[in-house]
Amino acid sequence: MDGAPTTLLDISGLSVEFSGGGRTARVLNDVALTVAANETLGIVGESGCGKSMTALAILRLVPSPPGRITGGRIVFGGEDLLQAPEQRLRDVRGHRIGMIFQEPMTSLNPVLTIGDQLSETLIKHLKLDARAARARSIELLKAVGIPAPERRVDEYPHQLSGGMRQRVMIAMAIGCEPQLLIADEPTTALDVTVQAQIFELLRELRARSGMGLILITHDMGVIAEMTDRVAVMYGGRVVEEAPTADILSAPAHPYTRGLIACVPDLDAEEDSGADLLEIAGMVPSVWDLPKGCPFADRCAEAMPRCVAEMPPTSVLSAGHRVACWLQEGTGP
Ligand code: SF4
Repeated sequence: MDGAPTTLLDISGLSVEFSGGGRTARVLNDVALTVAANETLGIVGESGCGKSMTALAILRLVPSPPGRITGGRIVFGGEDLLQAPEQRLRDVRGHRIGMIFQEPMTSLNPVLTIGDQLSETLIKHLKLDARAARARSIELLKAVGIPAPERRVDEYPHQLSGGMRQRVMIAMAIGCEPQLLIADEPTTALDVTVQAQIFELLRELRARSGMGLILITHDMGVIAEMTDRVAVMYGGRVVEEAPTADILSAPAHPYTRGLIACVPDLDAEEDSGADLLEIAGMVPSVWDLPKGCPFADRCAEAMPRCVAEMPPTSVLSAGHRVACWLQEGTGP
């Protein structure tokens, strides 16, 4: 791309709380992220770190109650989605921002044909008539690599394999040519070969359309393959963010080093954590987050200060920031 990339999404200070039983849990805490057009941002972390909640918050789909967005800004295309009326959000969701979830069977309607489901979105957002929507549905199925799309368009979800269903979900998500696509663990339920095909498809679609892509995963191998930049989340916070090449060659946060060391093929690029096969211990419950660094009870390098105080964010180099006491004052 020529010139500075266009920022599509700019999230700052995003915080989400859940309440229940007289207690309050801070599930997202001061999250800041940006995504540019034609860029893939990876969000990585274990289950319960806040990745999927970030995606739901972007679309204002945090279940409420018990959840509540308590602060921040989510600026998309110059507009703060946190201030937008519900009517406006309905236009943004599925039209300007597409979303692919983990398990297509729970997102597809089992009693409607693939064509009906694709057409529904196209009729709603693009105001196509039924005939044009059907023709466009067939084109979309073809674009995502579904063989015999003229026949498949009249089939039901249960007649397709898991990989084909995920392709249908991708077709639905890109049907209105969104500027931003959010894919939350899009290949979790699929075998390795199909996973590779789906990632290749996402890469192609992004290159062809110039959309921004947010890829949510627990797998650093996927991050290495697919993303331009990565945000590592832990305990509802972004604990490290950098261009992917920088994170892989010089991870600064002990949690990031642990995630990298969990991927055998990436060990060669990572020195200090190379003997870690998995990260010992458990992700803390959002109901029981510590006062200091949320990673402290799993961190081999924890110091007394880590338990007592939340580490500030340090900027290590252009676009590389980390929240860890070890890195305090080490930036340029
Ligand atoms: S702040 Fe302390 S406990 Fe947290 S990751 Fe850094 S060294 Fe480990």
